[in-house]
Formats: sequence, C-alpha cells, structure tokens
Amino acid sequence: MAIVRIPTPLRSLVGGADEVEVAAANVREALEELSRRHEGLRERLLGPDGELRHFVNLYVGADDIRDRDGLETPLAERDVVSIVPAIAGGLPDVRALMAELRQRVREVSAEQVHELLRRPGPRPVLIDVREPDEVEQGMIPGALAIPRGLLEFRIEQAVPDRATPIVVHCASGGRSLLAADSLQRLGYRDVASMAGGYRAWEQAGYETTRPLRLSPAQRRRYLRHLAIPEVGEQGQLRLLGATVLLVGAGGLGCPAAYFLAAAGVGRLVIVDDDVVDETNLQRQILHTVDRIGQPKVDSARRQLLALNPDIEVVGVQQRLTSANVSELVAAADVVLDGSDNFPTRYLLNDACVLHRKPCVHGSVFRFEGQVTVFWPGRGPCYRCLYPAPPPPELAPSCAEAGVLGVLPGVIGLLEAVEVIKIILGQGEPLVGRLLTYDALRARFTELRTRRDPDCAYCGEGRPFPGFIDYEQFCASAGAGQPAAPAAR
Ligand SMILES: [Zn+2]
Repeated sequence: MAIVRIPTPLRSLVGGADEVEVAAANVREALEELSRRHEGLRERLLGPDGELRHFVNLYVGADDIRDRDGLETPLAERDVVSIVPAIAGGLPDVRALMAELRQRVREVSAEQVHELLRRPGPRPVLIDVREPDEVEQGMIPGALAIPRGLLEFRIEQAVPDRATPIVVHCASGGRSLLAADSLQRLGYRDVASMAGGYRAWEQAGYETTRPLRLSPAQRRRYLRHLAIPEVGEQGQLRLLGATVLLVGAGGLGCPAAYFLAAAGVGRLVIVDDDVVDETNLQRQILHTVDRIGQPKVDSARRQLLALNPDIEVVGVQQRLTSANVSELVAAADVVLDGSDNFPTRYLLNDACVLHRKPCVHGSVFRFEGQVTVFWPGRGPCYRCLYPAPPPPELAPSCAEAGVLGVLPGVIGLLEAVEVIKIILGQGEPLVGRLLTYDALRARFTELRTRRDPDCAYCGEGRPFPGFIDYEQFCASAGAGQPAAPAAR
C-alpha cells in the first residue's frame, strides 16, 4: 500500500481525509484508483489526454516525479505520494499556472498592439485590468480601464458582442493572462493578452496618457450629477470635455446656455452679432438692464462665467456666413440652433451635414414651439424637411413675429437636454422626431420626420454642393411650417 497525501483544496473531494491509502504499482495506478473512488478528483489531476495537468506537481517521497519516471514512477510499500497543486504552492507553481495559461491564451506583443490600434478599420477593444491607482499613473490612450476584480461583472456591458476582438493588458502580462482566460470562458472568441503589459508599452516609447479625474471642487459642484449612474464621474468628464456651438444668444440660446453652463459643459462657443436691446429682456434671461447696448455675446459670457467660472465661454460677435460657419461647426461636438432666420438655419444645417455633427434645432412662434435633432447619417437633415427657404415675399415681417416670453425658455431647455444626452451618449435623441409644444393647450405632440434619400445635401454618396448665403429677410414659423424659424 502506498500513501497519497491530499492537499487542503482537494480534501473535500475525498471526504476530508488528508491521507488515503491505495494499492498501486506506480503513480498513474494510484491516481486512477483514487479517481475511481472519488468523483471529481480525476479532472483536477489529469487532463483529457491522461497526462498530469500543468498546474499540479506530484512527488514520491522528496522527488518530483518529473525527475524520475513521471506517472510511471514505481511505488514501493509505504511510499508517500504528495499532490501539490499550483495555487497552494509558491512561485514555481504560479509559473506552472502561467505556462498552462499560455497554452490556452494567445499573446501579442506591445508592438503588435500598437500596430493594431493604428491601422484603419475596426480595431480591437483594449482593456486595462490594472487597479485604479496604477491606471492613474498613466495608461494607453483609448484603453478601457476595468480592474481585474470587476472584469467578469462589467465586461458584458462594456463589450456586448462576444465576437469583438479584445486585447487585455495589465502591468507586466500576468494578470492579463488570467483575465483573458476568464473572458474566453465567458464566451469571448477573439481575446489576446498583451505580453509585457503596460511596462513593455512604456519601454517601447509609445504614447501614454493620464486619465482625467474631477478635482475636489468639481466633485462638490457636480455632486448631483455624480449620483446618477448615467452621468457619474466619466459622464461629467465628458461634459467638461465637450464643445457646444450655440448659434444665437437670444430667446432660445440664453436659457440653453445658462443650463449647459450650470451642467458643466466645458466650452461654450456663442455666435451672435447683435447687441442687447430693451425688448430682449422679456425672454433673453442672460442679459440685464445695465448691459443694454452691449454685445450680446459679451453680456452672455459675463453671466455664464458668474454662474460657472469652471468652464470656458467664447463669444464670437459675428453673423454666421458661409465664410465662418464651417470652421465653427467643425470645432464643435454638438450644435445648438437658436437662430431666428432662414439664412442661418440653412448654413448651419449644411455645415452640420458636411462635418456630420448633430444639430439640435428649436424654434418658437407666439404660443408654439418645436424641437428636433438633425443628426447627419442617423436621421433627416433640415433640408430633407424643407429643401429650400421660402421666397422673402412669403415670409411674415419681423414686426409681426411675437412670442410668449417664457416659451423660448421651455424650448431652449428642451434643446439643452438633447445636447446633454448627445454628449453623454444616453437615451434616445430626438432624431427623426419633431416634438411640438402648444403652450395654450398645454400639449406636447410628437411627429415623425423622414430622411429624404434624394436630399441634395445629406443623400447617400452625394458630393457636398457648397454653402449658400441666402438673402437676409425676416421670417417666422406659420402654422403650416412646423420647423421653420421664428422670433427669438
Ligand atoms: Zn437631408
């Protein structure tokens, strides 16, 4: 009879015994005999090929069986066989585990990952499984930081499609092997581990970045945002990193800008060539009596920075024309249209189509307002709805256009909500939907808008026809012109 010493992790499989006696002529027979007697033991010790698993070492007396005849090592009476699984042991066993993982997990070098990330077309998702304090010291640009301990719980939300190519990395390539193995078990089919980890990337001299964090003051200011999972610290950082182009510091632009500034949108670029007039104060809430006669962009900037000095407000005291629209739109993440005339609306639409930027559109007239989002590539553009402006003689004069002062407040804030949703990537933007508000009836209506496949501007595969500076004239949205511009 030989004696097999059972390590603690396996004792539950043999009824708690720390030693088991077996009649066997060699080590293999001893394991076979044990496996016959105790269910679940065999797969812990032997692979499907009948060979000893890489993470288990066996000793006969003081000798590793690899130094003798392996599983055929003969056993004499009272010989002691010790089972030493990798995880129970020290460094050599961890090495064995890693060696075993390397047979199952594909490894790629930092150079290969660098190349994969640079090439055009679909790129793998790079997941950084280091701990937050390590990530803070620097990370690979574009990597998604999910600590090893949370990987299995967060991966499904981060990478829903299990066919997505994934490269996992840690500090030196060990944890990422474990992580990649775990992802493979969860069904991810194209997973690799970056050998050498972040250290190898750094040593190769590739670009690194430090993740942005909110300052303590920002944490206090935006505390009510941080408490919402859909915003959180990452969402607030997105808002702070975003640039919104506001066209018009009037009835729609004022309330929208006020709340975007409060929400911490990091850079507001406001275009308006007008000066503050007494009649503006009925609705244009950024302006004050003592600033009558001053440029609206200066007045707006002063008020917004008084509310939130944490952001940047750029005033552009110009009328929007074909000369400046493209540059302004290209530099923005989202455009908020708070303009009051056709030439501006069309210029803005066309530039948004050219640069594929979402344009949040609002308009008001007397007691009615509309909001929609024109997002090139995802839904209709303004020209899909109205291919060209009406001739000047069919548009009402400026003097006729009137508006209930609080109405642009409602519509401007609905626009601001859409802007924030787009920046955060949350919810369903008003793409392909026109939301109308009738203040007198207190009624919201949603109308479906369709993309025109033959639209001269956003139609698939069409060359950009160029900007048009339409003749300046006053206009307002009559009952039959749902998305047309109006008084501000
Ligand atoms: Zn279109």
